[in-house]
Parts: sequence; C-alpha cells; structure tokens
Amino acid sequence: MQFLQKSLVELITQTSTNLPPDVRAAMRATGLAEKPDTQASQALNIIFSNIDMAADDSGAICQDTGMPTFFVHTPVGVNQIEIKKAIRAAVAEATKLGKLRPNSVDSLTGKNSGDNLGTGTPVIHFEQWEQDEIEVKLILKGGGCENKNVQYSLPATLEKLGSAGRNLEGVRKCILHAVWQAQGQGCAPGALGVCIGSDRAHGYDVAKEQLFRTLDDVNPDPVLAELEARIMTEANELGVGAMGFGGRVSLIGCKIAAANRLPASFFVSVAYNCWAFRRLGVRLNAASGEITNWLYRDPSLEVERMTKSEGFPLTGREIVLTAPLTEEKVRSLKVGDVVLISGEMYTGRDAVHAYLMKNPPPVDLHGAVLYHCGPVMLKEGDEWKVKAAGPTTSIREEPYQADVIRKYGVRAVIGKGGMGPKTLAALKECGAVYLNGIGGAAQYYARSIEKVLDVNLIEFGIPEAMWHIRTKNFAAIVTMDAHGNSLHADVEKETGERLEELAAV
Ligand code: SF4
Repeated sequence: MQFLQKSLVELITQTSTNLPPDVRAAMRATGLAEKPDTQASQALNIIFSNIDMAADDSGAICQDTGMPTFFVHTPVGVNQIEIKKAIRAAVAEATKLGKLRPNSVDSLTGKNSGDNLGTGTPVIHFEQWEQDEIEVKLILKGGGCENKNVQYSLPATLEKLGSAGRNLEGVRKCILHAVWQAQGQGCAPGALGVCIGSDRAHGYDVAKEQLFRTLDDVNPDPVLAELEARIMTEANELGVGAMGFGGRVSLIGCKIAAANRLPASFFVSVAYNCWAFRRLGVRLNAASGEITNWLYRDPSLEVERMTKSEGFPLTGREIVLTAPLTEEKVRSLKVGDVVLISGEMYTGRDAVHAYLMKNPPPVDLHGAVLYHCGPVMLKEGDEWKVKAAGPTTSIREEPYQADVIRKYGVRAVIGKGGMGPKTLAALKECGAVYLNGIGGAAQYYARSIEKVLDVNLIEFGIPEAMWHIRTKNFAAIVTMDAHGNSLHADVEKETGERLEELAAV
C-alpha cells in the first residue's frame, strides 16, 4: 500500500479546499433566491468569492477544519491497523501543510497537540464490505456548527412550538426547532443530518452519516422523503437567512434516517452542518492504496466558479474605519452599516478571554478591534503567514465580553453569529460595536490581512493565541451597535414568530 498515505493527504486537501459540486449547486441556488442588496446577499457574495479563492489557491475554505471524521469500508482481509496508521500520518502531514488547522486539544490540560492527533482524534469508523476496493469518506465539520447539533428526547415541550409527541409530527417540530435555534451561529444556510430513534450515542453517528448523502438525492423511503421535502419548505419560510442576517434560504439540505429504538426512548438527533459543507470520498486500490475513483466530484471536469469576478462588490456606501477606533466614530455606526477596516487588530477567542478575566492584556487594547478568530498560521522562515482567518462563533465569549470591553477599552469586536444582552449593554455603555464577519470566509479574510505583526500567548496554541495583525479593507457588517440595537435579537424574534405559526400548521 505504498500510495495509501499520499492518497489520503490528497483526500484531506481536496475536502478542505474544494467544496463538492452538489454543495456548490445548492449555494448557487441560494444566491439566486436571495434579494439583491440585502445583508444576506452581501454575505453570500463574500462566501462565493471565498469558495473560489480556496479552490484557486488550495487553501482551507474555512479555518476551522473541525474534527476530521473518516468512514472507511474495507474488503475482508485488509489490515485496518495499517489503514489507521496511514490516516493518522496523513492527518499530521496535512496539518503541517496548512490544509488542516491544529484542532486537537487535550481536554484535561488544554494543550493543543499541534498535529491533530490525540486521544480519539481523528475519528475513524471502520466497516467491512464484500467489495474489492477500499472506500474512505471524510467530513470536516467545524466547531461552530458542531455546537449547534442538538438531540431531543420525545415527548418534549419545545420553545415556540409547544408539545412534540412520539410521532412524525413531533419529529417535524424538533427539526424545525433545530434550524431556528442555530440562527446564524452555525454559519447558515445549513444542511441537516437527522436520525429518528436509536440511542443517544449512535443517534448522533447516524445523523452525521446522513451528511454523506448528496444534497439533491431523494430518500428511498417515501415517508421520509415527504418529511425531508416538507422541512425544506418550512425551514426556508423561517427567514434566518445567510449568517442569520435574515433572508429566504436558511437550509440547503435535510437528510433523515430512521433507526430502531428502545421502547422507552425516542430520540431525534440532529447534526447541523454549515454552508462550508466539506465532505468527499475516494475509492482506493486495496493492494497499492492508489485512488481509483473520487466520490461526489469528477476531477476530469473543471471546477465551476461561483463568481464572475474576484472580491466583494463595493457599493460606495461602505464606511471606512481606521483602527484603533475613537468612541465618536464608533457611536456614529448603526446596525446595517457595512464597514471596511484598515489598521491593526488583535485576535482573541476562548483562551484569551478566559485569560483576560484574571490577567491584564499583553498589549494595550484601548480603542482596539478584537477579532474572534482562530487562524491557520504557518511559520515561513522567521515570519508567520496567514493561511486562513475567518471569524469564529462569538456567543462563546458572552460570559466575558462585557467585562473585557469595560476593563480594557475595546472599541469593536468582530466575530460571527452575534452576542447576547450582556455584551449589548456594554456596547451601549462604553461606546463599542459588534461587527459580523462572514463565517467560513477564511480565504477572503486571509487576503485582508496584510501582515502578521506579532503574537502573544502562543502557549495557548495557534488557534487560541493572540495574533497582532494589520488589515486592509476588512469587510464586516454592524449587527450590534452602541445604541442598543441588535440585528441578531431582531431576527431571532421575527423567526420565532414564524416558528410559532408553523406549530399550528
Ligand atoms: S463555516 Fe462557520 S460553522 Fe462552518 S466550520 Fe467555518 S466557522 Fe465553523
């Protein structure tokens, strides 16, 4: 199997950098469905540019390459231990090449292993089959959407939808609730894998496996096919829209399986995948490990571009900001404004925020822009180079953000998915603003970063360190302003009202 590791590195690289054709088609349809000149269509323009940039430069579509999860079928007699070793070696190699972000963190010490290897990482599922070739499928599902997975135990009482019983109507309510609760935090529009039944642990596995179905397939079970179609229609009436900005498309796919359950249990497990829906597969020669065939893509066909021109079409209405920012400038911003930020900013996410609660910042944050981002960085010579740098889900910092703004004078926070009432109150009190970047647009934003100036707290690992960067025309949308307005709160309220109407249908 001399080619096995090479083939697996190619599978990881393609999965991380080149969105499959069925997902591209669904996203293209999303672009056509949205009204032009809306916040959702602006977000989609950036997403489409990002998809093209990632494929052109073989860069990670999103900086969060998730928990690499492999599903492997082997012919009887093939040594699975060898395959596991090759997968682990390929994962470490792809991480070194910057195709995967180092994402494996020791849950007890908090230490990042640096190579995506560790206890339980990567995840590998093996199954034998009666075919001659090996099949390896891979999904890279990032933490933002993984955190929006949800499991329901029926009967249940659901917010906005009321009681959900142990029947298909109850299941329908759970799935609609899953889309609503994700809002923009899982980088909508999303795709769902759903398992009706099974037990808690296996239900999630089956749900995730549904994400290997192509978005345009039809469930062979007519009952499930009808439910999938109904969910697609109803979920897209909710109005969550791209990145949760409000819009016509909230869901690009819904794939449902049913598995037997215990008489006492009735679980509905939902795996929520973001628009950066990265899954591919290969067939391998069982003797050499060479790729004989790709699944989901035809490498002989040219990759169809998502945009006609590179970049985010500017309207001239964008507000140019130069960081660090003054209170006066920040207070003049309002929800809906599109800003282009040039100047210096700092990254900071979970570890940095926890650190700042107990320690002074290693840099002066007065007037600063704090970017919720865990980038992919590679050291080339003495310099750090940005390989991928989109925003991470901000709501995780809700317990800390208000204190960080008050204590250290931060003027703008960039992230995705919005933040809660504590942060909104601090923005108003201190004259600060929350800017929504476009989740997953890791290549687009990497190009907005002119230079990595420095790094602090590198002991937290690459994604969690505090990177000091200089940006040029970094595009974002004001979604929470210093006047107490929050687009996220408004969209959640409006979509919640529509969800209530759907309960009665
Ligand atoms: S697109 Fe968003 S949810 Fe998906 S992996 Fe990237 S940051 Fe996470």
